[in-house]
Amino acid sequence: MSEVRNVIIIGSGPAGYTAGLYTARALLEPLMFAGYMSGGQLMLTSDVENFPGYPEGIAGPEMMMQLREQAERFGLTVQDKNVERVDLSSRPYKVYVEGEEFLTDSIIVSTGAESIWLDAEGEAEQKGRGISTCATCDGAFFRDEEVIVIGGGDSAMEEATFLTRFAKKVTLIHRRDVFKASKVMYERAANHDKIEIKTFRSVKKWLSNDAGLTGAVLVDPRDGSEEEIACTGAFIAIGHKPITSFLEEQVEVDEHGYIIHKEHTMTSVPGVFAAGDVVDTRYKQAITAAGMGCQAAIDVERWLEDQHS
Ligand code: NDP
Repeated sequence: MSEVRNVIIIGSGPAGYTAGLYTARALLEPLMFAGYMSGGQLMLTSDVENFPGYPEGIAGPEMMMQLREQAERFGLTVQDKNVERVDLSSRPYKVYVEGEEFLTDSIIVSTGAESIWLDAEGEAEQKGRGISTCATCDGAFFRDEEVIVIGGGDSAMEEATFLTRFAKKVTLIHRRDVFKASKVMYERAANHDKIEIKTFRSVKKWLSNDAGLTGAVLVDPRDGSEEEIACTGAFIAIGHKPITSFLEEQVEVDEHGYIIHKEHTMTSVPGVFAAGDVVDTRYKQAITAAGMGCQAAIDVERWLEDQHS
């Protein structure tokens, strides 16, 4: 029988690492399963300019390395493995990782969110052959080429601006003329001489040949009129969905799949807590995720104390 841990943290973005730091400093000897690609979405981000304490900004991956190092210094154990499933039917809870079973009194879920794809006609065939959801990962493949970015939020602005480093031209396609993006990020993109913004356009269909993507058919949602745009690269930046499939519906979620907090950061299952983008339908910032990771760690500490008193 394996030992019963105080707390297992699943997921390793700013929420997870902050929870790791706090639970480690509370001497709970936390174990984190960071996933095969540890660090979460910030590993795919270029510069983070809005996390307090970095006046010059910091690269997303570097910030994640620093958060990890800081938590490990106080005793967080990290394994870069994916959790396959959990069994929350009785305590101690069971966490299954690569065929191994781990027992724990409490869990913090901080698995974050993943990109949503458009699922337009022809998309499945072109994923990784011109269509991507990550400019930081794939942007350099499109040096001196024409690319498009789809979306009207901060992600789309960030992707479009980043892509100007490589591409000859970036066209930002948005389905309406109101932008969710913050003013500063919108204006940085809108004022860039390599970026053209086309509003009232949606992608109906992707066009390709044997070499890969060649363009897209765009449709105007107001009157259904269509036009073609040529591009060899396309970056979809239309938001994210929470990563919860490994929970197999044992924890209550809302209609979009986000975990629901029942009491402070505790979920519908006593002793199972959640923090960061896997819960957050509103703020979705690194700083708010980190703050919630701290809250979850403090909630775990108090809850464990109550169980043992
Ligand atoms: P958002 O939800 O903010 O924006 C998604 C955009 O995609 C919207 O403009 C939306 O259009 C559009 N969209 C959604 N579905 C479709 C679809 N099927 N077809 C066409 N367009 C679609 O998501 P983001 O990922 O941009 O941002 C998420 C959060 O992360 C935000 O809080 C943002 O501030 C934050 N963020 C911060 C960054 C930073 O500060 N450096 C960088 C990136 C993200 P519509 O407006 O019509 O709904």
